[in-house]
Amino acid sequence: MTTVVGFPRIGEQRELKFVTEKYFKGELDQDELARTGKELRQRDWGYLQKAGIDEIPSNDFSYYDQVLDAAFLFDLVPAAVKALPLSALDKYFALARGYQGEYGNVLAWPMKKWFNTNYHYIVPQLGKDSHFKLTGGKIFQEFAEGKQQGILTRPVLVGPFTLLKLSELHDADLCCLAKEAAKAYSEVIARLAQAGAEWLQLDEPFLVKDLDEDDKKLFQELYQPLLEAKEQAGLKILLQSYFGDVRDIYDDLVALPFDGIGLDFVEGKQTLDLVKGGFPDDKVLYAGVVNGKNVWRNNYEKTIAILKQLPVKHLVISTSCSLLHVPITVASEDFAPEVKEHFAFAKEKLAELHDLAAIFRAAAGSQAVLAKNQALFAKKRVEEDQALHEKIKHLTKEDFNRKPARSERETLQKAEFNLPLLPTTTIGSFPQTKEVRQKRRQLRKGELTASQYDDFVKGKIAEWLKWQEEAGFDVLVHGEFERNDMVEYFGQHLSGYLFSKNAWVQSYGTRCVKPPIIWGDIKRKEAITVAWSAYAQSQTKKLVKGMLTGPVTMLNWSFPREDISTEESTLQLALAIQEEVLDLEKHGIKIIQIDEAALREKLPLRKSDWYSDYLDWAIPAFRLVHSKVKPQTQIHTHMCYSEFTDIIPAIDAMDADVISFEASRSKLEILDALKAQHFETEVGPGVYDIHSPRVPSVSEIEATIKKILTKIPAQKDWINPDCGLKTRGVPETKASLTNLVAAARAVRAELAEKGEGEN
Ligand code: GLN
Ligand code: ZN
Repeated sequence: MTTVVGFPRIGEQRELKFVTEKYFKGELDQDELARTGKELRQRDWGYLQKAGIDEIPSNDFSYYDQVLDAAFLFDLVPAAVKALPLSALDKYFALARGYQGEYGNVLAWPMKKWFNTNYHYIVPQLGKDSHFKLTGGKIFQEFAEGKQQGILTRPVLVGPFTLLKLSELHDADLCCLAKEAAKAYSEVIARLAQAGAEWLQLDEPFLVKDLDEDDKKLFQELYQPLLEAKEQAGLKILLQSYFGDVRDIYDDLVALPFDGIGLDFVEGKQTLDLVKGGFPDDKVLYAGVVNGKNVWRNNYEKTIAILKQLPVKHLVISTSCSLLHVPITVASEDFAPEVKEHFAFAKEKLAELHDLAAIFRAAAGSQAVLAKNQALFAKKRVEEDQALHEKIKHLTKEDFNRKPARSERETLQKAEFNLPLLPTTTIGSFPQTKEVRQKRRQLRKGELTASQYDDFVKGKIAEWLKWQEEAGFDVLVHGEFERNDMVEYFGQHLSGYLFSKNAWVQSYGTRCVKPPIIWGDIKRKEAITVAWSAYAQSQTKKLVKGMLTGPVTMLNWSFPREDISTEESTLQLALAIQEEVLDLEKHGIKIIQIDEAALREKLPLRKSDWYSDYLDWAIPAFRLVHSKVKPQTQIHTHMCYSEFTDIIPAIDAMDADVISFEASRSKLEILDALKAQHFETEVGPGVYDIHSPRVPSVSEIEATIKKILTKIPAQKDWINPDCGLKTRGVPETKASLTNLVAAARAVRAELAEKGEGEN
């Protein structure tokens, strides 16, 4: 038997995205949106059916997000949203995106990364007035829709434990909420049973995190009543986990009367051992053996070897997690056949499940399928760069250690640059206006020659350098007009990268990303940013900061290889970027920023794995990039978030000279932690939020700077916005930055008056 945990819902041509965005703009009506939604569901079910998948999920479709869907199903919607005189769907979008219109102003619920993926879910905010009440209908409608189509689907719903653990509680009583949740979920069970459903899948990915006794108790409190309800209703429950193993609660899970348990054999390091330790005969094991996150073909021989070790009576072969995290099909890509055959996106993974089931039960003809797959894996896929592998093998401690120590460098750099106290700078990009994007498009279509395009970019650089000088910035940037994206642009200048045409993956709501694929060994093919940075520096006497993407971010925002370790790929990237750093230095760039916007992204879900599985190689990879620069060359890094309170020593160990990060929205809490832990790196906590078009006033920024100065000595403090400005408009950017410089100058003057801030 076969199934999937879930299927991508955005559509092969991102139909749902385009239709929904048109709907937001008022260009089409709700009926049309609903029609597209229905068509997509039918089409996706059709794919699963055609591929011979035995059990087909429903309600894995969503107009925005599955957690927000659950909040609406259970009426956890804030009163302000409920009060809006809008249709149910518009209220839903109001909570997802915020509402500002004739009926008032409602803030969106915040968004967070869904476990260790690049998908973002909406974080429910539960308060005193939040009560679980079954009022929504989407899950029932979609089940009925499947039935009409002749498919008895298995509805999917975020489980109560994960829903509560992911929600933010503001004055809400967890105990009451848990009781209500158990009751409301029980009602869902009863209604689905009545409607003729056989199974309900409850997704509980939170079970793969470190769980304490309170968590386990909460789980029991939620599930005991719910499991009683399912016995009465006669519905079967599949408890589905993913993104790791459930070691902390496995014994409880197998002891409870679940009918099926879904486990992840790809990311779950202990899953196989747990199951080998015993799995009850009366339950179905949903074995997640086909990787729901990567794009490579499954190695059938290895997978079958795992399946053969499972001491279980009832087995369903499944994906490790929802296929939401992979693109839909490789069929539409232009890769050469000998490249294409190595990939399996969502649709191809369906065929893999079918193959695996056939091989596992030794069906007629399956031997040939296995042999073909074995031949694929036996093939030499890429020419290994032996010299590079050797180089990595022989890296020594010195290669990861910049000299002299940071405190000494700090003195040297202060003398060299002679910057004022509280130096002002920006994070790198300036607005990517329509014009900028249009020129890039024209270059791609051949409507502009390379030299015409270069002249355009140079013009932009010169224009913005002049503006920064006039505005009074201390450290300037060239503005990143040449790049579309911080990973793709670099990948295009490296060997070993592959770019797809249509391999989109949902990031949040209607937003999708197209991660490039690391296909082979990585090397710098040519200089990447040197010409732009050198040109910029030649146009001004002020310092221009070079701007690069760091190795960990390059890796985390790409689909990684599976034939060599992630660590090794990252070191390859680090060596390539190291070349670029040294090249920039050679061309007179004295300050180089290496962005690690995605460093935190792949932090393991279990704290105990943070260092051993990740930071122990990710941080050295960053150090490798800048270990060989001169003491006077200043290395900056940037992170788009400030949630690193718990890994402050690791961030300091990156050994950058300066780090800028988001701080305005997180109310500067991070600064206390930095102070307490004697953070050594100079810091630029963002002084205003660039994610909003609002222009902050001088006095507002001044107040923020002063707050920062109560925690960070002025000698260590930089003044900059939160993040890059590429998504902003020109007028608001200029207005905000002008205020930023004015605020920095005002504070500087005050400090000088008090005689503070001088060494
Ligand atoms: N240097 C990049 C920019 O300014 C950083 C982007 C990011 O942090 N995501 O756009
Ligand atoms: Zn950022």
